Amino acid sequence: MRAAVYRGANDLRPETVPVPRIGKNELLVRVAACGVCPTDIKKIHYGTLPPPRIFGHETAGTIVKIGAGGASGGASVLASRFKIGDRVALHHHVPCLDCHFCRHHAFAQCAQYKQTGITAGFEPAGGGFAEYVRVMPFVLPGVVKIPAKNTFEEGAMLEPVNTVLKAVKRLALLPGDNVLVAGQGPIGLMFTRLLQLRGMNVLVTDLFDSRLRLAKKFGAKWTKLVQSPTSKAQRPARKTLDLGHWTLDAAMNAAVLAVPSDAALKQAFEVIRGAGQILLFAHTKRGALTEVDLASVCVDEKDLLGSYSADFTIQREVARLVFSRQMDVRGLITHRFSLDETAKAVELAAHPTPESLKVIVSHFA
Ligand SMILES: [Zn+2]
Ligand SMILES: [Zn+2]
Repeated sequence: MRAAVYRGANDLRPETVPVPRIGKNELLVRVAACGVCPTDIKKIHYGTLPPPRIFGHETAGTIVKIGAGGASGGASVLASRFKIGDRVALHHHVPCLDCHFCRHHAFAQCAQYKQTGITAGFEPAGGGFAEYVRVMPFVLPGVVKIPAKNTFEEGAMLEPVNTVLKAVKRLALLPGDNVLVAGQGPIGLMFTRLLQLRGMNVLVTDLFDSRLRLAKKFGAKWTKLVQSPTSKAQRPARKTLDLGHWTLDAAMNAAVLAVPSDAALKQAFEVIRGAGQILLFAHTKRGALTEVDLASVCVDEKDLLGSYSADFTIQREVARLVFSRQMDVRGLITHRFSLDETAKAVELAAHPTPESLKVIVSHFA
């Protein structure tokens, strides 16, 4: 089969590799679509993991084979939920539900969760940038069937929507609260929509006008164009986020940073009320340091939170939101590349243009 094999930093090659063999109670899925995710981009660009690997974890496709259940004959309860021909959305991380972290509902820190249960060969890394993937038994609880009326691409978007809904649930908000979402790329737009669906007044910022226009369609109440602090000859970051009268009249109850911007963090501390929350969603680079006025945490009781990765226990709710099109992800997908063009897809997703949002590797492109 064809696959985009990661051979080292910034080296993604279209190659022919063996179709994965499946074992007891495993699924073989023919991939139809796989989203390009910023976390994969980082691994590919910086070469943070040893090659070879096949990345891609926002995967949807069709079940073409189900591994027999071993000595007992029939498939396991989980595997028997599926039949050949089912269109499915996959989920590559599932926690054990039993360890210290799982008991504290911190699934992303669980050792089993950190293992990747889907592979197209080599060290398991998602495998969605290939024609076929092998789905291991421990991630079967996260596999969701795609309704007939929905597309594979919508199925592939369950994973990123899940990560956003998980983060939204970390915020202690009441309907009618004001929330700032900094950054309106695909993830920022998902935050805007999910927060609006929960009754929040959402203020969004971005560097591109085109994205702000789209944010209105995704439910933003207010939009504000901001400038990159580095764009004007490295001038010092402005003291406040230039939000016009909103800085005075409508303090935010929470701020979500969907961009890894330190200036946005500083601004977020300034525009949220006392006891408000700031959620970091894009600061994934290790060793990144910044200054925080600690009294704003201790005295003003402003909380600094993070959220990473998905929570399979909310996957049903995510599927309902996406497949009912309350969270309509179709408008987020702007570019499609064939499997052999995966390197191009990653390149575009790493350097977004005003017109590009979610980039998909599609087996129909
Ligand atoms: Zn992802
Ligand atoms: Zn666990």
